[in-house]
Amino acid sequence: MFQKILIANRGEIALRVLRACKELGIQTVVVHSTADSDAMHVRLADESVCIGPPPSRESYLNIHQIVAACEITGADAVHPGYGFLSENAKFADILAAHNITFIGPSGDHIRIMGDKIEAKRTAKRLGIPVVPGSDGAISDDKEAKRVAAEIGYPVIIKASAGGGGRGMKVARTEADLEVALQTAKSEAGAAFGDDAVYIEKYLEKPRHIELQVFGDGAGHGVHFGERDCSLQRRHQKVWEEANSPALNAEERARIGGICAKAIADLGYSGAGTIEFLYENGEFYFIEMNTRLQVEHPVTEAITGIDLVHEQIRVASGGGLSVRQEDIKFNGHAIECRINAEDPRTFTPSPGTITHFHTPGGLGIRVDSGVYSGYRIPPYYDSLIGKLIVHGRNRVECMMRLRRALDEFVVDGIKTTLPLFRDLVGNPDIANGDYDIHWLEEYLAKED
Ligand code: ADP
Repeated sequence: MFQKILIANRGEIALRVLRACKELGIQTVVVHSTADSDAMHVRLADESVCIGPPPSRESYLNIHQIVAACEITGADAVHPGYGFLSENAKFADILAAHNITFIGPSGDHIRIMGDKIEAKRTAKRLGIPVVPGSDGAISDDKEAKRVAAEIGYPVIIKASAGGGGRGMKVARTEADLEVALQTAKSEAGAAFGDDAVYIEKYLEKPRHIELQVFGDGAGHGVHFGERDCSLQRRHQKVWEEANSPALNAEERARIGGICAKAIADLGYSGAGTIEFLYENGEFYFIEMNTRLQVEHPVTEAITGIDLVHEQIRVASGGGLSVRQEDIKFNGHAIECRINAEDPRTFTPSPGTITHFHTPGGLGIRVDSGVYSGYRIPPYYDSLIGKLIVHGRNRVECMMRLRRALDEFVVDGIKTTLPLFRDLVGNPDIANGDYDIHWLEEYLAKED
């Protein structure tokens, strides 16, 4: 087991990882920018190292400084959290070259999944269902037209290097296709320095359903069920739940089995999430994230398994603590992402939190790095906390969520709490009846 882990992140996830380390009796080092000197993760860690000024590029993304912090403090492993360097293959390689363990998969696996064409090809080879489309990059209009005619309109053009929903264009007819192709290519070139694009069938009303998987790096893979993250705004997840209201136990076991086998065959190590669009009973792979996800607590709530403990065990060579048959799904969990944003316009609302009171009671978990009197710096993303609620079934979970949202107090800044208070009373949400467009349509109606 590791002696000392350096946490290369900030906010609620730094605290989340810190808690797991403390439980396992592992010493902790956190790194922070000058804007985060009074952050909770800095206060609670055994050691802290200031690695630079506020901009992420000069601090949380500064590989040199982070490696130097490992060497100075004698950390033998790094947990990258999510975002920042968590899916940076070069960072994983550099740590390996310094004999420091990256708590995550190999640089090569990160690289494959970071290239969407390569990821899709790999998924298909491993027996994961993918969206019908071109085999690789599309070179010209003629090829695009041929593929589109084959799979049928509407189609979507996507950037191979894509991320954050950028560089995607929908074409509903052949007449739209040339323009969509050109726009997608130039957007991808400008945003990612790589204009490779591919084409696939556009699904009209899918849900976003993702499978939590784990590999032990020695040829074993398991799945921890799915999360439904269909409630999104601008491709950002807002509300996540496990299980998905749309799946039954047989469907879960079937797609879970496919994913676990794929992970085993790939020789993958650590946590991963295989994301699908789901429509009319069919799954369509869209991408794989090679890290812990923001929404991992809903999976922890229904399985009772600490996924960060598992990550640390696997990275230290101790294997997984569970076999597939040990993983049971109990009840229902929902996570609300609480952002320091105006709940109507979603513009960031940094500033000082004058009063912070979190709900409690059975089935309630709040993961947050903030406290009363904390000043939210304007440099980073606006997530200030996550409310995770568990109940024996979805109805109980929703009752408890409504009560917990009423108890939650954040004064001094604007937050997205009022949005969740509206959503929890909405009949479509109560029925679990929503797809990936539902939230945008709902917000457009409210305006
Ligand atoms: P990114 O990495 O940029 O987030 P994804 O491939 O994960 O790109 O897709 C982001 C979102 O775009 C999906 O959650 C979905 O809303 C939409 N999308 C992507 N592919 C399709 C498709 N084939 N049909 C319909 N919507 C799609």
